[in-house]
Amino acid sequence: MRIDIATLFPEMCEAVLSTSIIGRARKAGFIEVYCHNIRDFSVDKHQRVDFAPYGGGNGMLMQADPIYRCYEHVCEEACSKPFVIYMSPQGAVLNQALAVDFAENYEHLFLICGHYEGIDERIIEEIVDKEVSIGDYVLTGGELGALVLTDAVGRLCDGVLSEDVCFEDESHYSGLLEYPQYTRPQVWHGREVPAVLLSGNHKMIADWRHEQAVKRTMEKRPDMLKKEK
Ligand code: SAM
Repeated sequence: MRIDIATLFPEMCEAVLSTSIIGRARKAGFIEVYCHNIRDFSVDKHQRVDFAPYGGGNGMLMQADPIYRCYEHVCEEACSKPFVIYMSPQGAVLNQALAVDFAENYEHLFLICGHYEGIDERIIEEIVDKEVSIGDYVLTGGELGALVLTDAVGRLCDGVLSEDVCFEDESHYSGLLEYPQYTRPQVWHGREVPAVLLSGNHKMIADWRHEQAVKRTMEKRPDMLKKEK
């Protein structure tokens, strides 16, 4: 999987994506992630990328052309046309199913991060395949969304986590929330680890975990169980 992020703040993205599991996976070559400064693709002598919107209104709007040039650069460099995603509060809300779809069905994603009032509509018409939101609220820029998407998709790619079961048991993957988990010590503040987890009986442990997953999904997110029907 290759993910290219077009942003006005590549250093913000790099800081997060060089860290922890995703940082290690990049170093080891399991995923490729590149952050591009849209300003580098401006032909303006002051490297401007934003102007006031036609028709008036608040704030500034990012121009189409620098984003397009960045996209062309990535297409040439990768010798392929990526699936283009605009991070937008108007997009489909990201969930685990969408992350799995991206991880399984696309080899190359190009993420556009807007800023200010957003981006010129014509770049969306010209190159964007899908708009993706990370929730029904408005952020100052698309970077946090692009980081969330890259992390959610990246961890599903082969080799990033030690085994597939690492994510298959987790919340949302199978439509349930994950069961409760415990580590040392066996008793903490008078609270004991459930005895079944110390039994060594794998079948009993698996059954208990499944029951707990259903129970806590019913308690915390009953909407998820309704969706399955
Ligand atoms: N004027 C736009 C609107 O009302 O739809 C909002 C622009 S927002 C202030 C600036 C940028 O932040 C957007 O272009 C988008 O890239 C990003 N953004 C804001 N909220 C987001 C969300 N919920 N999910 C993903 N990206 C978001």
